[in-house]
Amino acid sequence: MFTIGSHLSSAKGYRQMAADAASMGANTFQFFTRNPRGGKAKAIDPDDVCAFHELAAQAGIERFLAHAPYTLNPAAKKPETRQFALEVLSDDLARMEATSGQMYNMHPGCHVRQGADVGVDLIADALNQVLSEEQSTTLLLETMAGKGTEIGGTFDELARIIERIEVQDHVGVCLDTCHVWDGGYDIANRLDEVLDEFADTIGLDRLRAIHLNDSKNPCGAHKDRHARIGEGEIGFEALVAVTEHPALRDLPFFLETPQDDLSGWAAEIAAIKAARR
Ligand code: FE
Ligand code: FE
Ligand code: ZN
Repeated sequence: MFTIGSHLSSAKGYRQMAADAASMGANTFQFFTRNPRGGKAKAIDPDDVCAFHELAAQAGIERFLAHAPYTLNPAAKKPETRQFALEVLSDDLARMEATSGQMYNMHPGCHVRQGADVGVDLIADALNQVLSEEQSTTLLLETMAGKGTEIGGTFDELARIIERIEVQDHVGVCLDTCHVWDGGYDIANRLDEVLDEFADTIGLDRLRAIHLNDSKNPCGAHKDRHARIGEGEIGFEALVAVTEHPALRDLPFFLETPQDDLSGWAAEIAAIKAARR
């Protein structure tokens, strides 16, 4: 089954996100666990979770992807900044257990001129403090565009973080098509080779989700500006090919394209479904 949805506002809770997803022809969705700038998270309402499960079952929604605030930096130079990231990550992972068995995505972090090796170690250390054998949530590290001092702009950096993690069972990767393209992986013309490289470094078994975005910039630009599907440099056909690839087609796909309202994503989902073989 093709699993596709978009990033949604979590302001009105889980049930509303399921309703919004279903209204656009989606069967999954993504949301920020709290204000992306990292404010305090709202308490989870058990009644909302119940209502969500009921509606999700009717709408064929089996999974979703929670996204950590993108301002967290477990690789920061300042200990206070690293401590803040640890607190938010462990609080989010505890909250995720209210909806067990789902996925939680994070941007690995920025090494802020300490060097990638230091960054990789700091991120792995942080994850070793927040991950536990008992959790049901899978934590995903997102592939990044390699903007500034971002870690995760290469598959190799993600592989090096993952190999240092003690709890291996609940760790995976979310591949963002805009980010890998901006990072220099030509998924429009060399998708098979890029996936071979992913398989050789990280391993395809680690790949659990796709952020499906077009890019405003050419391959290798290291910019990270998302475009609507078919309105960027990757192009509609190449992005549909990503959704059709045998190694990817059963993964959940999440649109993070700039849209004014739900109808924009509904149109993208319909267009992709119509073109996808
Ligand atoms: Fe992201
Ligand atoms: Fe993304
Ligand atoms: Zn991005």
